[in-house]
Amino acid sequence: EIAEIEDDPASLVLRPPVVTVMGHVDHGKTSLLDAIRQTNVTAHEAGGITQHIGAYQVLCQGKKIVFLDTPGHEAFTSMRARGAQVTDIAILVVAADDGVMPQTVEAINHAKSAKVPIIVAINKMDRPGANPDRVKQQLAEQGLVPEDWGGDTIMVPVSAHQKTGLSDLLEMILLVAEMQEVKANPNRLAYGTIIEAELDKGRGPVATVLVQKGTLRIGDSIIAGTTYGKVRAMINDRGDKVKKAEPSTPVEVLGLNDVPMAGDVLAAVDEKIARSVAEKRVAKKRSEEMKESQK
Ligand code: GDP
Repeated sequence: EIAEIEDDPASLVLRPPVVTVMGHVDHGKTSLLDAIRQTNVTAHEAGGITQHIGAYQVLCQGKKIVFLDTPGHEAFTSMRARGAQVTDIAILVVAADDGVMPQTVEAINHAKSAKVPIIVAINKMDRPGANPDRVKQQLAEQGLVPEDWGGDTIMVPVSAHQKTGLSDLLEMILLVAEMQEVKANPNRLAYGTIIEAELDKGRGPVATVLVQKGTLRIGDSIIAGTTYGKVRAMINDRGDKVKKAEPSTPVEVLGLNDVPMAGDVLAAVDEKIARSVAEKRVAKKRSEEMKESQK
């Protein structure tokens, strides 16, 4: 098996933070993701068609932030269940007129058990019934005490509809990322996580990978779960072909022999071992399935 390489602390450099949006249904997770995306697209793609590859980068004051495009706890928990931790910061969306609801509490618990810092976006501030103080009170009861009340949880009032408060939210994300020292070594073989994957009619297996350490390059031998191959092409979140992907870059990767699973680790490896490791993993999985079916 492939052992994960520990990086020398001296090799680590700042990388863009990776953010997941969580919260109760209908509190505005999707609307917030869309609003942030629309207001922070580069001139290059403004008005054009943007790719949907499961994650996207936005710019705030020249710095990048990566958003995972699957709102909700599903992606977060299923990936964690498979041992993958891709999120650096959780944005907890709470509707200002509805307040803390069961899935809000669930999201807080997920983020806490993953030790991921939470920033609260108090959304729907444009609604007549918006009551941010009540939301803060309810969150304080859940252990998230707002900064302006002497606690340490950053809470930003926003409206996804009116696109207000969005740049404040992005600035707070960068601030928390700096405090957390979100870093990686870009100068090593790539290591990342499969965000989503599918079989494309024309292109074959297509996997969206979030590179977390190292740099992934065209021609690299890769292994992801029980699949393997060579990077034939990479496409970024704007639909551009790229030759390399550094830490915190989401890219579509072409060249795997089969479709990996979301949450699988992708590693660039020595060409000789990619296939044999993948085959061993397939054999192991089969024998486990056999044992399971004999129970
Ligand atoms: P999700 O289930 O958390 O992804 O929530 P959605 O983004 O689908 O939003 C749920 C509903 O709330 C939709 O009808 C949105 O149009 C509405 N909504 C989202 N954000 C806002 C906001 O800032 N203001 C208002 N008034 N409505 C919003």
